[in-house]
Amino acid sequence: MEEKIIGLDKEINLLKTLYKQGKIASSYLFLGKEGIGKKKIALHLAKILNCQKHQPCQKCQDCLLIDNNCHPDVYTISPEKSISIEDIRTLKNKTYIKSISHWKVFIINDAHKLTIEAANAFLKIQEEPPENTTFILITHKLNMLPKTIQSRAVKIWLSPNAEQIKTYLKTRYPQIPAQQIDYLLGVYENSLGKIKNFIDSKETSIADETTKVLLSAEDFFNFNLSLKKKRQALKEELSFLMLFLRDCLVAKITPNSILLNSPYYEIINTYQKGCSPEELIKKFSKVVEIYNSAENINMYLAAKLLTDIFYG
Ligand SMILES: [Zn+2]
Repeated sequence: MEEKIIGLDKEINLLKTLYKQGKIASSYLFLGKEGIGKKKIALHLAKILNCQKHQPCQKCQDCLLIDNNCHPDVYTISPEKSISIEDIRTLKNKTYIKSISHWKVFIINDAHKLTIEAANAFLKIQEEPPENTTFILITHKLNMLPKTIQSRAVKIWLSPNAEQIKTYLKTRYPQIPAQQIDYLLGVYENSLGKIKNFIDSKETSIADETTKVLLSAEDFFNFNLSLKKKRQALKEELSFLMLFLRDCLVAKITPNSILLNSPYYEIINTYQKGCSPEELIKKFSKVVEIYNSAENINMYLAAKLLTDIFYG
């Protein structure tokens, strides 16, 4: 049985409307951050197209075959390293086979992993798409996908509804305090996949780690330096630091606020006492600047800048 898709009602309704209006495109690009449900939405579209009731009903043979990854008209490429020209040739051969159901759907996960040759070969298929066939390219790295392929696909940006995800998480993990859930939503930018991974793996969160070192300039610097080979962790830390500074400001302006329930209330309160509201705002915008260059910034420089921001 398919797991329910959480927080993407808007996207599901859009696809249903497109289907009802007979406007299903031959190529789609499903875009958005990792772990938000792009693959699930792609399979959902495959079901809308092939379900015997076009619901999807979750009961007919087509729905069940898609759920079990063995529908002959729904083909998925999930590359480990790259998508080769052979992969695209295999895909092309499959487009020639007559469909048993209504619609052929080809899902290409991590489409940014297409090699140049594979991308060119795919482009040719895109230029003359077979009838009743839809290609769904999935990526969180749009800038790594050739513009030619992009321009021949309808782009759909997935943006999960934070409230729906929050409600789901509260029911799914009743043991976790609401405030902690709010933090996770902020740090993992509403990515349900990442949040569930985090909770299920029971790792110490980057927020926990950061707050442990935040009151000593030296510990804070060394902690940031230890992230040297973990750029993703730096980004998570930066997201947390933005929330942290925002909360410091809230604590400064409205003492006894809802922050009293925060797992980090004590450190928020201690830190905010040493800063004026203007200073907090300035620090916040400096962290935003680093966040915006987090993909490329030298990690030593990032550690130094952050320490300056919090202790300069
Ligand atoms: Zn069905």
